Amino acid sequence: MLNIVLFGPPGSGKGTQADLIVKRTNLTHISTGDVFRKNISEKTELGQLANDYMQKGQLVPDKLTINLLASEVDFYLNSEGFIFDGFPRTLPQAEAFSELLKKKDMDLSFVISLEVSENELVKRLLSRGLDSGREDDKNEEIIRNRIKVYHKQTSVLQNYYLNKLKDCFFSINGERTIEEISKDIFNIVL
Ligand code: AMP
Repeated sequence: MLNIVLFGPPGSGKGTQADLIVKRTNLTHISTGDVFRKNISEKTELGQLANDYMQKGQLVPDKLTINLLASEVDFYLNSEGFIFDGFPRTLPQAEAFSELLKKKDMDLSFVISLEVSENELVKRLLSRGLDSGREDDKNEEIIRNRIKVYHKQTSVLQNYYLNKLKDCFFSINGERTIEEISKDIFNIVL
C-alpha cells in the first residue's frame, strides 16, 4: 500500500498535484476540504457546523475532522493506497492519524511538503477565487487568515514528520510549473 500525505499551505498546489497522481495510479484521493464542501452542498449537519469555520478561514475542530477522515479511510479501505490532501493540519490530528494508521496496519510512505511564498499564495488563491466558486478564496482577509492559521497550527507538522519519518519526508519547491513539480513528486513516489 502506498500512502502519501501532500502537505503545504492553502494554494500550494496540493489538490492539483493530487489529481495528477490519481491519473497515473490507483490511489484514492482524500481531501478533507472537499469532503467538508460536499457536506455543505448537501446541507448535512456536519456541513453546517464546518461552514462557520471555513467561511472565516479557521480550522474545523479536530474531533469532527478526525472522525470524518476515519470514516473516509474506512469507506475506501480496499484501495491500493491514499493521497491525503489537507490532512493532518494540527498536532492532535497528526497523532490521531498515526493511531488510526497503526490500527489499520497501514504506514505513511511519503510526506511531501510543497513550499510556496506567501505573496504567491495570495496571488494564486485570489485568482482561483475568480472561478472556483469558493467563498474562502474570494476575500484577501480570509485568505491571509488561512495562511496565518497554517503558520500557527499546521507548519509545526513539518518538524513532527521530519523527526518521526525522516526518510519519508520531502520538501519540494512549489513555485515552479505544475509539470516540474509533478515530475519531482513522481521521482519520489514511483
Ligand atoms: P482546503 O480545501 O484544504 O483548502 O480546506 C478548506 C477549509 O476546510 C479550511 O480552511 C478549513 O476550514 C477546512 N479544513 C480542511 N481540512 C481541514 C483539516 N484537516 N482540519 C481542519 N479544518 C480543515
